[in-house]
Amino acid sequence: MGRATEALRLLTIHAHPDDESSKGAPTIAKYASEGVETVLVCATGGEAGDIINPAMDRPEIIDNLPAVRLAELRAAVDAIGFSRFHLLGYRDSGMPDTEHNLHPDCFDMAPLDEAVGRLVALIRAERPHVIITYSDDQQGYRHPDHLKVHDITGPAFEAAGDPAAYPSVGEPWQPLKLYYSMWSRARIEAMHLAFGESELESPYDERWFERPSLDHRVTTKIEIGEFYPVRTAALRAHATQVDPAEKFWFGLPDDIAAKAYPFDDYILARSEVPTDLPEDDLFAGVRELVAV
Ligand SMILES: [Zn+2]
Repeated sequence: MGRATEALRLLTIHAHPDDESSKGAPTIAKYASEGVETVLVCATGGEAGDIINPAMDRPEIIDNLPAVRLAELRAAVDAIGFSRFHLLGYRDSGMPDTEHNLHPDCFDMAPLDEAVGRLVALIRAERPHVIITYSDDQQGYRHPDHLKVHDITGPAFEAAGDPAAYPSVGEPWQPLKLYYSMWSRARIEAMHLAFGESELESPYDERWFERPSLDHRVTTKIEIGEFYPVRTAALRAHATQVDPAEKFWFGLPDDIAAKAYPFDDYILARSEVPTDLPEDDLFAGVRELVAV
């Protein structure tokens, strides 16, 4: 079993530095602890991000923001336990109708073919069995870079294994499963309740409960309770982006949060292997194939 696990590889793609910490970090930490090779692809350098933490709003930080954010990303990657990370090489686009969206290097402006090609090259180099991306339904948060992460991953998942597609960027490699990450309604409700039971003010206002629930689409629940604190350490590594006093991220003590909802939830979007739903393992159906 140990040998089989060592050969498994998981790749997750995110839009900006800090997304890897707020979405699915405990899942990565869990699989990394089992010896699974874990790879992060970050689409942009986060150039459009404001400095959210007042303590970091200083000239020497502002003047070196790209380098500072890269160093923060490296620290978060280490905290989570990723084996490796890659930048896709685009510029952060910012929210709709901002000037960042007009920058020629921004991810939003990138031709789909080109962006898919860059991801295909990384998939062929890293040979992941499982890929995690953002959902096809992002009504709750419509950042152009997040939408585009979804838009390039499906085509890249297919093209990576096709010898006729992007023939100049490496040997074909067909990943076996594609998942969408999500914050389930069940999780938001559990956290909201835990704030109340701890007599703490919940940051989840009615807008969170107006977001359409995708819970009926959840196929896969990964138990991550003991790895929950990894997400907190990783978020803190993004010191310019995350205010350490921010209740939304840090208001609930880790041990309470981990007990309140000890799962990361996923939607299985594609599978090249047979698997029984619901699942409790991203590699269900894959381990048998990789085991020698
Ligand atoms: Zn983001």
